[in-house]
Amino acid sequence: MKIHFFGTCAGTEPMPGRKHVSFAVENDGQLYWFDAGEGCSYTAHLMGLDLMSVRSIFISHSHMDHVGGLGNLLWNIRKLDTLTGKMAGKNIDVFLANEKTWNGIMQLLSQTEGGFKTTFSINRKGISDGIIYNENGLCVKALHNTHLGVPDDGQWMSFSFRIEAEGRSIVFSGDLGAIDDIDPLIDDCDLLLMETGHFKPEDVCNYIKNNNKNVKTLGFIHNGRHILKDAAYELSNAKKILGDRVFIAEDGTTMEI
Ligand SMILES: [Zn+2]
Ligand SMILES: [Zn+2]
Repeated sequence: MKIHFFGTCAGTEPMPGRKHVSFAVENDGQLYWFDAGEGCSYTAHLMGLDLMSVRSIFISHSHMDHVGGLGNLLWNIRKLDTLTGKMAGKNIDVFLANEKTWNGIMQLLSQTEGGFKTTFSINRKGISDGIIYNENGLCVKALHNTHLGVPDDGQWMSFSFRIEAEGRSIVFSGDLGAIDDIDPLIDDCDLLLMETGHFKPEDVCNYIKNNNKNVKTLGFIHNGRHILKDAAYELSNAKKILGDRVFIAEDGTTMEI
């Protein structure tokens, strides 16, 4: 399994070298997209990835730093299909809890070239706790978190994901209301991709250390003011707590897991 990082910034104003959050897991030649911040498909394409290999897209919640590049991603897939015809008959599932966001994006696309008529289908699916995807040897489990508060109607709108394939596991925090929102997902995980937009990196490290969480590698993503200000300092501080198993994810990079 590979992970390609397209954007590693939290929802800040534009930052040099970091765009809003997005990454993809590559398994068996297919891409599984997680969050779609600004410019994600632009970065992926320039990294040499084939956007027409996108099988499914998983959106943690509807804040702009997580959906700002979604319309453009779908537009770019259609654009490449008009050049190659490789998408005919295929389907892309988009997991997105917020139906209004989805309707807005589809409305915007419908006013673009060719009325956004496609040779492939796009299916929006809601998200609830539990396994939401299990195909081609890749499984995705969702768990709600409190980033957008506790809903009156029981309909959670913000999720974290656990991805499993080839005997490996990756947990993506999405945005959290509290660090321990992620607790039920992270026992025995090979890689935790943890947001630092709402928490100090050292608080995350101390949480993992003090609760004896079996997290083999910790990557900081959705990076907030602390890391944006001084990444080298924050990384060395984190390594004092957890050792060399910590890293800061960078835009345009790929790692093997
Ligand atoms: Zn965010
Ligand atoms: Zn958010």
